[in-house]
Amino acid sequence: ISAQVWIGIDLGTSGCRSVAIDEGGRELASARTPLPEPLSPAPGQYEQDPELWWQAVLDTLTQLGSALPDRELVAICLDATSATLLLATPNGKLRGPALMYNDRRAVAEAALIDRVAPVDSPARGPSASLAKLMYLSKQTPRTTTSLALHQADWIIGRLTGHYRVSDWNNALKLGYDAERLCWPDWVSALIPDGIRLPQVVAPGDPIGPLDATLANRLGWPSSVRVLAGTTDSTAAVIAAGAKEPGDAVTCLGSTLVLKILSERPVTASAYGIYSHRFGDAWLVGGASNSGGAVLRRSFSNAEIVSLSLGIDPERPSGLDYYPLIGPGERFPKNDPDLAPRLSPRPSDPRAFLHGLLEGIARIEAEGYARLAELGAPPPRRIASIGGGAANPTWTAMRTRILGIPVTSAEHQDAAYGAALLALHRSQQ
Ligand code: ADP
Repeated sequence: ISAQVWIGIDLGTSGCRSVAIDEGGRELASARTPLPEPLSPAPGQYEQDPELWWQAVLDTLTQLGSALPDRELVAICLDATSATLLLATPNGKLRGPALMYNDRRAVAEAALIDRVAPVDSPARGPSASLAKLMYLSKQTPRTTTSLALHQADWIIGRLTGHYRVSDWNNALKLGYDAERLCWPDWVSALIPDGIRLPQVVAPGDPIGPLDATLANRLGWPSSVRVLAGTTDSTAAVIAAGAKEPGDAVTCLGSTLVLKILSERPVTASAYGIYSHRFGDAWLVGGASNSGGAVLRRSFSNAEIVSLSLGIDPERPSGLDYYPLIGPGERFPKNDPDLAPRLSPRPSDPRAFLHGLLEGIARIEAEGYARLAELGAPPPRRIASIGGGAANPTWTAMRTRILGIPVTSAEHQDAAYGAALLALHRSQQ
Protein backbone atom coordinates (compact mmCIF):
# COMPACT_ATOMS: atom_id res chain seq x y z
CA ILE A 1 0.00 0.00 0.00
CA SER A 2 1.42 3.39 -0.98
CA ALA A 3 1.49 6.24 1.51
CA GLN A 4 -1.32 8.76 1.34
CA VAL A 5 -1.07 12.48 0.54
CA TRP A 6 -3.29 15.54 0.78
CA ILE A 7 -2.88 18.62 -1.41
CA GLY A 8 -3.51 22.26 -0.54
CA ILE A 9 -3.66 24.92 -3.26
CA ASP A 10 -3.30 28.66 -2.53
CA LEU A 11 -4.32 31.03 -5.29
CA GLY A 12 -2.85 34.30 -4.12
CA THR A 13 -2.36 37.72 -5.62
CA SER A 14 1.01 37.03 -7.26
CA GLY A 15 0.84 33.32 -8.01
CA CYS A 16 -0.38 29.85 -7.20
CA ARG A 17 1.36 27.66 -4.65
CA SER A 18 0.46 24.04 -3.97
CA VAL A 19 1.83 21.72 -1.30
CA ALA A 20 1.46 18.03 -0.61
CA ILE A 21 1.53 16.72 2.97
CA ASP A 22 1.46 13.29 4.56
CA GLU A 23 -0.81 12.02 7.36
CA GLY A 24 1.51 13.59 9.95
CA GLY A 25 1.26 17.06 8.34
CA ARG A 26 4.80 16.87 6.97
CA GLU A 27 5.37 18.77 3.74
CA LEU A 28 6.47 16.33 1.03
CA ALA A 29 6.59 18.56 -2.03
CA SER A 30 5.57 22.03 -3.18
CA ALA A 31 5.25 23.87 -6.47
CA ARG A 32 4.75 27.51 -7.38
CA THR A 33 3.66 29.20 -10.60
CA PRO A 34 3.57 33.00 -10.86
CA LEU A 35 0.53 34.90 -12.15
CA PRO A 36 0.77 38.06 -14.25
CA GLU A 37 -0.34 41.39 -12.77
CA PRO A 38 -4.09 41.94 -13.19
CA LEU A 39 -5.10 44.37 -15.96
CA SER A 40 -6.07 47.84 -14.80
CA PRO A 41 -8.31 49.50 -17.42
CA ALA A 42 -8.75 52.57 -15.18
CA PRO A 43 -7.63 53.71 -11.71
CA GLY A 44 -9.21 51.52 -9.04
CA GLN A 45 -10.15 48.84 -11.60
CA TYR A 46 -8.43 45.45 -11.59
CA GLU A 47 -9.50 42.45 -13.63
CA GLN A 48 -8.05 39.15 -14.77
CA ASP A 49 -8.88 36.27 -17.08
CA PRO A 50 -9.70 33.31 -14.76
CA GLU A 51 -8.20 30.92 -17.33
CA LEU A 52 -4.81 32.23 -16.15
CA TRP A 53 -5.61 31.00 -12.63
CA TRP A 54 -6.63 27.61 -13.94
CA GLN A 55 -3.43 27.23 -15.99
CA ALA A 56 -1.38 28.13 -12.89
CA VAL A 57 -3.31 25.64 -10.72
CA LEU A 58 -2.90 22.87 -13.33
CA ASP A 59 0.78 23.65 -13.64
CA THR A 60 1.41 23.27 -9.88
CA LEU A 61 -0.69 20.07 -9.74
CA THR A 62 1.27 18.59 -12.64
CA GLN A 63 4.53 19.42 -10.86
CA LEU A 64 3.31 17.84 -7.61
CA GLY A 65 2.10 14.75 -9.48
CA SER A 66 5.53 14.14 -10.99
CA ALA A 67 7.26 14.84 -7.66
CA LEU A 68 5.16 12.18 -5.88
CA PRO A 69 4.70 9.33 -8.36
CA ASP A 70 4.08 6.57 -5.83
CA ARG A 71 1.72 8.31 -3.47
CA GLU A 72 -1.98 7.82 -3.12
CA LEU A 73 -3.70 11.21 -3.32
CA VAL A 74 -6.73 11.38 -1.01
CA ALA A 75 -8.14 14.91 -1.15
CA ILE A 76 -7.53 18.42 -2.49
CA CYS A 77 -8.54 21.68 -0.80
CA LEU A 78 -8.09 25.18 -2.18
CA ASP A 79 -8.00 28.71 -0.80
CA ALA A 80 -8.07 31.89 -2.86
CA THR A 81 -8.29 35.66 -2.47
CA SER A 82 -11.46 36.86 -0.84
CA ALA A 83 -13.86 39.05 -2.84
CA THR A 84 -12.53 38.22 -6.31
CA LEU A 85 -15.72 37.53 -8.25
CA LEU A 86 -16.88 36.45 -11.71
CA LEU A 87 -20.01 35.39 -13.57
CA ALA A 88 -20.21 32.10 -15.45
CA THR A 89 -22.81 29.99 -17.24
CA PRO A 90 -24.26 27.01 -15.33
CA ASN A 91 -21.58 24.92 -17.10
CA GLY A 92 -18.82 27.19 -15.84
CA LYS A 93 -18.15 29.07 -19.10
CA LEU A 94 -16.91 32.55 -18.28
CA ARG A 95 -19.16 35.54 -18.97
CA GLY A 96 -16.10 37.83 -18.88
CA PRO A 97 -13.07 38.65 -16.74
CA ALA A 98 -13.16 38.46 -12.95
CA LEU A 99 -13.18 41.61 -10.85
CA MET A 100 -10.19 41.31 -8.51
CA TYR A 101 -10.31 41.62 -4.71
CA ASN A 102 -9.10 45.25 -4.78
CA ASP A 103 -11.33 46.50 -7.61
CA ARG A 104 -13.36 49.51 -6.46
CA ARG A 105 -15.44 50.38 -9.51
CA ALA A 106 -18.82 49.26 -8.08
CA VAL A 107 -19.40 52.54 -6.23
CA ALA A 108 -23.01 53.07 -7.34
CA GLU A 109 -23.88 49.46 -6.44
CA ALA A 110 -22.26 49.84 -3.01
CA ALA A 111 -24.43 52.90 -2.39
CA LEU A 112 -27.56 50.84 -3.12
CA ILE A 113 -26.35 48.09 -0.79
CA ASP A 114 -25.71 50.66 1.96
CA ARG A 115 -29.41 51.51 1.98
CA VAL A 116 -30.55 47.98 2.81
CA ALA A 117 -27.63 46.11 4.42
CA PRO A 118 -27.32 45.87 8.22
CA VAL A 119 -24.77 48.41 9.50
CA ASP A 120 -22.29 45.69 10.45
CA SER A 121 -22.48 43.74 7.19
CA PRO A 122 -19.11 42.70 5.69
CA ALA A 123 -20.85 42.88 2.29
CA ARG A 124 -20.78 46.69 2.34
CA GLY A 125 -18.39 48.72 0.21
CA PRO A 126 -17.36 48.78 -3.47
CA SER A 127 -14.73 46.02 -3.09
CA ALA A 128 -17.08 43.54 -1.43
CA SER A 129 -18.26 40.67 -3.64
CA LEU A 130 -21.89 41.79 -3.47
CA ALA A 131 -21.27 45.18 -5.14
CA LYS A 132 -19.13 43.42 -7.76
CA LEU A 133 -21.92 40.94 -8.46
CA MET A 134 -24.45 43.74 -8.98
CA TYR A 135 -22.01 45.56 -11.27
CA LEU A 136 -21.22 42.47 -13.37
CA SER A 137 -24.88 41.46 -13.65
CA LYS A 138 -25.59 44.76 -15.46
CA GLN A 139 -23.13 43.78 -18.21
CA THR A 140 -24.69 40.33 -18.69
CA PRO A 141 -27.80 39.32 -20.67
CA ARG A 142 -30.72 38.76 -18.27
CA THR A 143 -32.42 36.23 -20.50
CA THR A 144 -30.00 33.45 -19.52
CA THR A 145 -28.83 32.14 -16.17
CA SER A 146 -25.46 33.19 -14.71
CA LEU A 147 -23.73 31.84 -11.62
CA ALA A 148 -21.98 34.20 -9.22
CA LEU A 149 -18.69 32.52 -8.33
CA HIS A 150 -15.69 33.54 -6.27
CA GLN A 151 -12.18 32.74 -7.44
CA ALA A 152 -12.09 29.56 -5.30
CA ASP A 153 -15.60 28.49 -6.37
CA TRP A 154 -14.78 28.60 -10.07
CA ILE A 155 -11.51 26.68 -9.67
CA ILE A 156 -13.34 24.04 -7.63
CA GLY A 157 -15.79 23.86 -10.53
CA ARG A 158 -12.90 23.24 -12.92
CA LEU A 159 -11.59 20.50 -10.63
CA THR A 160 -14.92 18.70 -10.23
CA GLY A 161 -16.87 19.67 -13.34
CA HIS A 162 -19.65 20.99 -11.08
CA TYR A 163 -20.10 24.68 -10.44
CA ARG A 164 -22.32 26.56 -8.02
CA VAL A 165 -20.82 25.68 -4.62
CA SER A 166 -19.11 28.16 -2.29
CA ASP A 167 -18.06 28.13 1.37
CA TRP A 168 -18.86 30.17 4.51
CA ASN A 169 -15.65 32.15 4.32
CA ASN A 170 -15.71 33.16 0.66
CA ALA A 171 -19.45 33.90 0.78
CA LEU A 172 -19.18 36.31 3.76
CA LYS A 173 -18.55 39.40 1.61
CA LEU A 174 -21.35 38.36 -0.74
CA GLY A 175 -23.70 38.83 2.22
CA TYR A 176 -24.09 35.23 3.38
CA ASP A 177 -25.23 34.89 6.99
CA ALA A 178 -22.71 32.42 8.43
CA GLU A 179 -24.48 32.43 11.79
CA ARG A 180 -27.91 31.34 10.51
CA LEU A 181 -26.39 29.57 7.50
CA CYS A 182 -28.62 31.21 4.90
CA TRP A 183 -28.81 34.04 2.38
CA PRO A 184 -30.61 36.88 4.15
CA ASP A 185 -33.76 38.25 2.50
CA TRP A 186 -32.14 41.64 1.90
CA VAL A 187 -29.45 39.95 -0.22
CA SER A 188 -31.94 37.84 -2.21
CA ALA A 189 -34.00 40.97 -2.87
CA LEU A 190 -30.97 42.72 -4.40
CA ILE A 191 -30.06 39.90 -6.79
CA PRO A 192 -31.30 40.53 -10.33
CA ASP A 193 -33.29 37.93 -12.29
CA GLY A 194 -31.11 35.36 -13.99
CA ILE A 195 -28.32 35.49 -11.37
CA ARG A 196 -27.89 32.51 -9.07
CA LEU A 197 -26.18 32.77 -5.74
CA PRO A 198 -23.90 29.89 -4.79
CA GLN A 199 -24.98 27.07 -2.54
CA VAL A 200 -22.83 27.51 0.58
CA VAL A 201 -21.21 24.70 2.60
CA ALA A 202 -18.58 24.50 5.35
CA PRO A 203 -14.93 24.88 4.31
CA GLY A 204 -13.54 21.36 3.84
CA ASP A 205 -16.93 19.74 3.15
CA PRO A 206 -16.73 17.17 0.35
CA ILE A 207 -17.91 18.59 -2.97
CA GLY A 208 -17.24 15.72 -5.33
CA PRO A 209 -14.62 13.53 -6.94
CA LEU A 210 -11.98 14.96 -9.25
CA ASP A 211 -13.30 15.32 -12.81
CA ALA A 212 -12.56 11.99 -14.57
CA THR A 213 -10.86 13.52 -17.63
CA LEU A 214 -8.69 15.69 -15.42
CA ALA A 215 -7.81 12.79 -13.12
CA ASN A 216 -6.77 10.80 -16.15
CA ARG A 217 -4.65 13.63 -17.48
CA LEU A 218 -2.89 14.06 -14.12
CA GLY A 219 -2.51 10.33 -13.63
CA TRP A 220 -4.53 10.33 -10.43
CA PRO A 221 -7.37 8.00 -9.42
CA SER A 222 -10.82 9.49 -9.88
CA SER A 223 -11.48 8.64 -6.21
CA VAL A 224 -9.60 11.85 -5.24
CA ARG A 225 -12.01 14.05 -3.29
CA VAL A 226 -12.27 17.78 -3.87
CA LEU A 227 -13.26 19.70 -0.75
CA ALA A 228 -14.89 23.09 -0.29
CA GLY A 229 -12.34 25.89 0.03
CA THR A 230 -11.77 28.94 2.16
CA THR A 231 -10.18 32.40 1.87
CA ASP A 232 -6.41 32.93 1.76
CA SER A 233 -6.25 34.71 5.11
CA THR A 234 -8.29 31.99 6.84
CA ALA A 235 -6.03 29.30 5.36
CA ALA A 236 -2.98 31.21 6.68
CA VAL A 237 -4.51 31.10 10.19
CA ILE A 238 -4.99 27.32 9.89
CA ALA A 239 -1.37 27.00 8.70
CA ALA A 240 -0.15 29.03 11.70
CA GLY A 241 -1.71 26.41 13.98
CA ALA A 242 -4.64 28.27 15.59
CA LYS A 243 -7.08 25.74 17.04
CA GLU A 244 -8.76 26.82 20.29
CA PRO A 245 -10.53 29.98 21.45
CA GLY A 246 -7.82 32.40 22.59
CA ASP A 247 -5.34 31.28 19.93
CA ALA A 248 -4.30 34.41 18.04
CA VAL A 249 -2.41 35.08 14.83
CA THR A 250 -0.76 38.44 14.18
CA CYS A 251 0.28 39.25 10.62
CA LEU A 252 3.20 41.68 10.58
CA GLY A 253 3.09 42.56 6.88
CA SER A 254 2.75 46.00 5.31
CA THR A 255 -0.18 46.47 7.66
CA LEU A 256 -0.81 44.97 11.09
CA VAL A 257 -3.60 42.39 11.04
CA LEU A 258 -4.91 40.70 14.20
CA LYS A 259 -6.98 37.49 14.28
CA ILE A 260 -8.24 35.53 17.25
CA LEU A 261 -10.41 32.45 17.66
CA SER A 262 -13.52 33.11 19.69
CA GLU A 263 -16.53 31.11 20.81
CA ARG A 264 -18.79 33.90 19.58
CA PRO A 265 -18.69 36.10 16.49
CA VAL A 266 -17.71 39.75 17.05
CA THR A 267 -18.73 42.42 14.59
CA ALA A 268 -18.07 46.16 14.86
CA SER A 269 -18.22 48.03 11.58
CA ALA A 270 -16.85 51.23 13.15
CA TYR A 271 -13.57 49.40 13.72
CA GLY A 272 -13.76 47.27 10.57
CA ILE A 273 -14.06 44.14 12.72
CA TYR A 274 -15.87 41.10 11.40
CA SER A 275 -15.85 37.35 12.01
CA HIS A 276 -15.41 34.31 9.83
CA ARG A 277 -17.01 31.05 10.89
CA PHE A 278 -14.13 28.67 11.67
CA GLY A 279 -15.14 25.10 12.51
CA ASP A 280 -17.15 25.30 15.73
CA ALA A 281 -15.67 28.70 16.55
CA TRP A 282 -15.30 32.16 14.98
CA LEU A 283 -12.24 33.89 13.66
CA VAL A 284 -12.45 37.53 14.70
CA GLY A 285 -10.21 39.97 12.84
CA GLY A 286 -9.20 43.61 12.80
CA ALA A 287 -6.62 45.50 10.74
CA SER A 288 -4.59 48.55 11.77
CA ASN A 289 -3.09 50.98 9.25
CA SER A 290 0.16 50.73 11.20
CA GLY A 291 2.64 48.01 10.27
CA GLY A 292 5.74 47.20 8.25
CA ALA A 293 5.05 49.88 5.62
CA VAL A 294 6.19 52.47 8.19
CA LEU A 295 9.43 50.56 8.76
CA ARG A 296 10.00 50.22 5.01
CA ARG A 297 9.84 54.01 4.57
CA SER A 298 12.98 54.44 6.70
CA PHE A 299 14.79 51.08 6.53
CA SER A 300 15.60 48.31 4.07
CA ASN A 301 14.90 44.75 5.26
CA ALA A 302 18.66 44.19 5.67
CA GLU A 303 18.96 47.34 7.82
CA ILE A 304 16.06 46.16 10.01
CA VAL A 305 17.82 42.83 10.54
CA SER A 306 21.22 44.31 11.45
CA LEU A 307 19.91 47.18 13.59
CA SER A 308 17.51 44.86 15.46
CA LEU A 309 20.47 42.74 16.61
CA GLY A 310 21.67 45.72 18.63
CA ILE A 311 18.33 46.41 20.34
CA ASP A 312 17.70 45.08 23.85
CA PRO A 313 14.07 43.88 23.73
CA GLU A 314 13.80 43.93 27.54
CA ARG A 315 14.54 47.65 27.76
CA PRO A 316 11.83 50.22 26.91
CA SER A 317 12.76 52.65 24.12
CA GLY A 318 11.55 55.69 26.06
CA LEU A 319 9.68 56.82 22.92
CA ASP A 320 5.92 57.02 22.58
CA TYR A 321 5.22 56.51 18.87
CA TYR A 322 2.03 55.69 17.00
CA PRO A 323 3.58 54.66 13.68
CA LEU A 324 1.40 55.39 10.61
CA ILE A 325 2.32 56.32 7.02
CA GLY A 326 -0.39 58.98 6.93
CA PRO A 327 -3.24 60.34 9.05
CA GLY A 328 -6.20 58.07 9.81
CA GLU A 329 -6.73 54.86 11.74
CA ARG A 330 -9.62 52.37 11.87
CA PHE A 331 -8.53 49.83 14.45
CA PRO A 332 -7.77 49.67 17.40
CA LYS A 333 -8.70 53.37 17.45
CA ASN A 334 -11.41 54.51 15.06
CA ASP A 335 -10.21 58.01 14.17
CA PRO A 336 -10.06 59.01 10.50
CA ASP A 337 -7.92 62.03 11.46
CA LEU A 338 -5.49 60.33 13.83
CA ALA A 339 -2.05 61.82 13.11
CA PRO A 340 1.08 59.64 13.00
CA ARG A 341 3.16 60.17 16.16
CA LEU A 342 6.83 59.78 15.25
CA SER A 343 8.67 62.41 17.23
CA PRO A 344 11.07 63.13 18.77
CA ARG A 345 13.25 61.34 16.22
CA PRO A 346 16.62 60.33 17.70
CA SER A 347 19.68 60.72 15.45
CA ASP A 348 20.67 57.09 16.11
CA PRO A 349 18.77 54.91 13.58
CA ARG A 350 18.81 51.98 16.01
CA ALA A 351 17.01 54.01 18.67
CA PHE A 352 14.49 55.17 16.05
CA LEU A 353 13.80 51.56 14.93
CA HIS A 354 13.46 50.54 18.59
CA GLY A 355 10.74 53.16 19.05
CA LEU A 356 8.92 52.06 15.86
CA LEU A 357 8.94 48.34 16.74
CA GLU A 358 7.76 49.12 20.26
CA GLY A 359 5.05 51.47 19.00
CA ILE A 360 3.65 48.81 16.66
CA ALA A 361 3.80 46.22 19.49
CA ARG A 362 1.77 48.56 21.71
CA ILE A 363 -0.84 48.93 18.94
CA GLU A 364 -0.96 45.12 18.74
CA ALA A 365 -1.60 44.91 22.51
CA GLU A 366 -4.24 47.64 22.29
CA GLY A 367 -5.83 45.76 19.36
CA TYR A 368 -6.24 42.52 21.29
CA ALA A 369 -7.59 44.53 24.24
CA ARG A 370 -10.15 46.15 21.90
CA LEU A 371 -11.24 42.75 20.51
CA ALA A 372 -11.62 41.45 24.08
CA GLU A 373 -13.66 44.52 25.08
CA LEU A 374 -16.00 43.76 22.15
CA GLY A 375 -16.53 40.12 23.15
CA ALA A 376 -13.53 38.07 21.95
CA PRO A 377 -11.45 36.18 24.52
CA PRO A 378 -8.11 37.66 25.60
CA PRO A 379 -5.29 36.05 23.60
CA ARG A 380 -3.53 33.16 25.33
CA ARG A 381 -0.81 32.73 22.73
CA ILE A 382 0.13 34.48 19.51
CA ALA A 383 1.66 32.95 16.39
CA SER A 384 3.17 35.56 14.06
CA ILE A 385 3.21 35.55 10.28
CA GLY A 386 4.34 38.05 7.59
CA GLY A 387 7.66 39.82 7.00
CA GLY A 388 8.09 40.96 10.64
CA ALA A 389 7.53 37.48 12.12
CA ALA A 390 11.14 36.58 11.28
CA ASN A 391 12.51 39.23 13.66
CA PRO A 392 13.45 37.57 17.01
CA THR A 393 14.14 40.92 18.72
CA TRP A 394 10.67 42.09 17.87
CA THR A 395 9.16 38.76 18.98
CA ALA A 396 10.89 39.12 22.38
CA MET A 397 9.75 42.74 22.68
CA ARG A 398 6.17 41.75 21.84
CA THR A 399 6.29 38.92 24.40
CA ARG A 400 7.26 41.48 27.07
CA ILE A 401 4.60 44.03 26.06
CA LEU A 402 1.76 41.53 25.50
CA GLY A 403 2.66 39.36 28.50
CA ILE A 404 1.81 36.05 26.75
CA PRO A 405 3.81 33.59 24.61
CA VAL A 406 4.54 35.07 21.16
CA THR A 407 6.21 32.89 18.51
CA SER A 408 6.96 32.95 14.82
CA ALA A 409 4.57 30.47 13.17
CA GLU A 410 6.33 27.38 11.90
CA HIS A 411 4.08 27.27 8.84
CA GLN A 412 3.23 30.61 7.32
CA ASP A 413 1.79 29.79 3.97
CA ALA A 414 -1.85 29.49 3.10
CA ALA A 415 -1.31 26.46 0.81
CA TYR A 416 -0.11 24.49 3.83
CA GLY A 417 -3.25 25.58 5.73
CA ALA A 418 -5.47 24.37 2.88
CA ALA A 419 -3.61 21.03 2.89
CA LEU A 420 -4.10 20.74 6.69
CA LEU A 421 -7.81 21.45 6.28
CA ALA A 422 -7.98 18.65 3.68
CA LEU A 423 -6.14 16.28 6.00
CA HIS A 424 -8.25 17.07 9.08
CA ARG A 425 -11.55 16.95 7.25
CA SER A 426 -10.79 13.61 5.60
CA GLN A 427 -9.93 12.11 8.97
CA GLN A 428 -13.25 13.11 10.56
P1 ADP B 1 2.85 42.23 2.64
O1 ADP B 1 1.85 42.64 3.70
O2 ADP B 1 3.15 43.37 1.73
O3 ADP B 1 2.58 40.93 1.99
P2 ADP B 1 5.15 40.98 4.01
O4 ADP B 1 4.46 40.02 4.87
O5 ADP B 1 6.05 40.48 2.92
O6 ADP B 1 4.21 42.10 3.44
O7 ADP B 1 6.02 41.91 4.97
C1 ADP B 1 6.70 43.02 4.45
C2 ADP B 1 6.93 44.00 5.58
O8 ADP B 1 7.75 43.38 6.58
C3 ADP B 1 7.68 45.22 5.10
O9 ADP B 1 6.88 46.35 5.38
C4 ADP B 1 8.98 45.23 5.88
O10 ADP B 1 9.29 46.52 6.35
C5 ADP B 1 8.71 44.29 7.04
N1 ADP B 1 9.89 43.52 7.41
C6 ADP B 1 10.68 42.78 6.60
N2 ADP B 1 11.69 42.20 7.28
C7 ADP B 1 11.50 42.55 8.58
C8 ADP B 1 12.20 42.26 9.81
N3 ADP B 1 13.29 41.49 9.84
N4 ADP B 1 11.72 42.81 10.94
C9 ADP B 1 10.62 43.58 10.93
N5 ADP B 1 9.94 43.88 9.81
C10 ADP B 1 10.36 43.38 8.65
